[in-house]
Amino acid sequence: MAKTEKTTSDVLFVSSEVFPLAKVGGLADVSASLPQALMKLGHKVHLLLPAYPSAMAKAASKRKKEPIAELIVQGYQVRVWQSVLPGTSLVLWLVDVPELFDRPGNPYQNPEGHDWPDNAQRFGLFARVAAMLALDRAGLNWQPEVVHCNDWQSALVPALLDGQPARPATVFTVHNLAYHGWFPYSTFQELALPMHFWSHERLEFHGQLAFIKGGLVYADRVTTVSPTYAEEIQTEAFGQGLDGLIRHRHDRLVGILNGIDEQEWNPARDPHIIRAYEADNLDGKVACKAALQESQGLEIQPDAPLAGFIGRLVDQKGVDLIVEVLPGLLDSGCQVAMLGSGSPELEAVIAEVAARYPGRMSVFIGYDEGLAHRITAGADIFLMPSRFEPCGLNQMYSLHYGTLPVVHAVGGLRDTVFDETTTTSAQANGFSFEPATAAALWSALARCLECYGNKKHWKTLQRNAMEQDFSWDRSARAYSDVYSLAREDRASQI
Ligand code: ADP
Repeated sequence: MAKTEKTTSDVLFVSSEVFPLAKVGGLADVSASLPQALMKLGHKVHLLLPAYPSAMAKAASKRKKEPIAELIVQGYQVRVWQSVLPGTSLVLWLVDVPELFDRPGNPYQNPEGHDWPDNAQRFGLFARVAAMLALDRAGLNWQPEVVHCNDWQSALVPALLDGQPARPATVFTVHNLAYHGWFPYSTFQELALPMHFWSHERLEFHGQLAFIKGGLVYADRVTTVSPTYAEEIQTEAFGQGLDGLIRHRHDRLVGILNGIDEQEWNPARDPHIIRAYEADNLDGKVACKAALQESQGLEIQPDAPLAGFIGRLVDQKGVDLIVEVLPGLLDSGCQVAMLGSGSPELEAVIAEVAARYPGRMSVFIGYDEGLAHRITAGADIFLMPSRFEPCGLNQMYSLHYGTLPVVHAVGGLRDTVFDETTTTSAQANGFSFEPATAAALWSALARCLECYGNKKHWKTLQRNAMEQDFSWDRSARAYSDVYSLAREDRASQI
């Protein structure tokens, strides 16, 4: 096998979301933090994003006056603008096709919350532009050594590059396998993709076009966002019908845990919370708890355990399990503070329980970044009984803030939360349970509340949690290794 000697790479990082330019979920956070951490390791990263109105506006002050490239791709006039990610020196390229991307709403949906009907055309074209840039066919006189694509929206890039003699190495990251980018055969025809892609070994999935297969089948290396999720997606239970393909590529697959943005999430300097604190002195956390109880209309009881929940109110997050245990938990003297939005049914049932327990349970339906920080800091316990969780950020934030998580032992939750029943006491930092049932959640909560009663023991777990390393530097080193392997794979083919 040919060896590449250079340990750093020129990277084109392709994503449909980047914080703070355009965010729907965790992909946006990763697409901002990982390229910066890679840059610190010496990689030269160019970030590629569609030119949504929010992205164009937020990148306007540092944007070059003229587009750096103008192309006609599949009949569309495409401009590529260069700027930097706000507050950083990371080079940002925005793919500007007004008919496709200059729209209100979020990157995938209109303001009413419905998917844009032409999402396949939008991200199909985005992928074609990325492939042209990767082959230095946009007149920029620059070619990456690695193209790193993320989720279905950019998954066609490795497929489009396949067979191109001058192509760079390709890496594809699965952030959530539940989203495939499924479209009918007629869309496959409209996109004018090469006919040989239409086979179940390539982009076809039970008579449909599945964008995600472009990455899973064709990328030199595939990653996902936790080691356990990398194992789980090879099983029928979590594989979303793609487990056979993923098993087939298992020797190219690795799970790398996401880091957290420690500028944003750090109890020692968090502008959203009333008092800063560190592992050595948790007095500030006591003040944060009292402030949270007061602001949320909970009785101010320093000794009552307070459990928090933050997240999308959807089936994935196991919110129905929380609903089942809520009456027992509240009757036992625990307080609960919840923040989230999602399914109207779940929103209604949670609000109904809260109304029955004034002073003991609070709910805020909606999105509130500041309250998310205040719950993370002020709660003692964090509830995260997700049915599946590729990585999960909220449990890492809580650990970092000394708020001990109670989690279903799945995906990234299994890789970050360690229960005393399954680990050494020097590592224990929370409580986990399986299977995903209310009874199992309840028994983990019972152990958690018992531990809460033993202040010394609780403090030990808090210290373990707060001293855990969630830096992006650790993850970026692992991605660096993947880039080297992908380049070796590619070099061995030439
Ligand atoms: P997912 O990406 O599946 O929604 P994660 O735990 O990986 O779950 O990340 C969720 C992110 O969104 C976290 O940063 C979390 O704090 C934030 N979040 C989710 N819901 C809300 C909300 N209602 N208000 C504020 N922040 C929220």
